[in-house]
Amino acid sequence: MSLQTVSLASLQQQIDAVSRPGQPVRLLAVSKLQPAAAIAALAAQGQRAFGENYVQEAAAKIQELAALALEWHLIGHLQSNKAEVAARSFHWVQTVDRPKLVEALARHRPPALPPLNVLIQVNIDDEDSKHGCQPAQVPALAEAIAAHARLRLRGLMAIPAPFPERDRRQAAFTRMRGLFDALAARHAHVDTLSMGMSSDFAEAIAAGSTMVRVGTALFGQRPTP
Ligand SMILES: *Cc1c(COP(=O)(O)O)cnc(C)c1O
Repeated sequence: MSLQTVSLASLQQQIDAVSRPGQPVRLLAVSKLQPAAAIAALAAQGQRAFGENYVQEAAAKIQELAALALEWHLIGHLQSNKAEVAARSFHWVQTVDRPKLVEALARHRPPALPPLNVLIQVNIDDEDSKHGCQPAQVPALAEAIAAHARLRLRGLMAIPAPFPERDRRQAAFTRMRGLFDALAARHAHVDTLSMGMSSDFAEAIAAGSTMVRVGTALFGQRPTP
């Protein structure tokens, strides 16, 4: 699939055009495999929040770009043995999906830093190929996160299946919004529902996404590793 690359301002306009009044949607620029110079160029246009998938690659870029004071989100699967580096490097981890990871991130978040913002990743279409917890596991995982002062539960993240049928895609987004509303009713700091990418961010926003993760549409095709 080839996607048209758009400017940051034009993407922001497209997002605003489909957002509900008074409910701004945040844009996370997904910069995995992109060089630090490409990130700095987007930051110079005003973009603050960046999403990365690979802990080692990200940690190097985060260090290189430290002077820009950007906000870094881990959106790739996190192995427990990388939890320490992740807890030191990122402001948000969007892929928390099991109790062991909750404990590891809480243990390794440095005391000098503010609490680590976390999202619970939900495998909303129950795909074997995807990480994320089951919807029924969200309440217990949320309680585990909320029990740690070094972590702050901010909401949910999902990567729904790219069904060809619009109504099946919409159904997954709508189920996620239902889970998010239930979570927000129980946990004070929950304000973020991360869903929607280059190809489907407008549909995700229509269903109630509060943060879209856009890579290809902003940066163009990713370099191969
Ligand atoms: C790569 C990635 C994105 C961005 O995908 P694009 O199609 O390039 O916009 C969003 N979310 C996650 C979890 C990703 O891994």
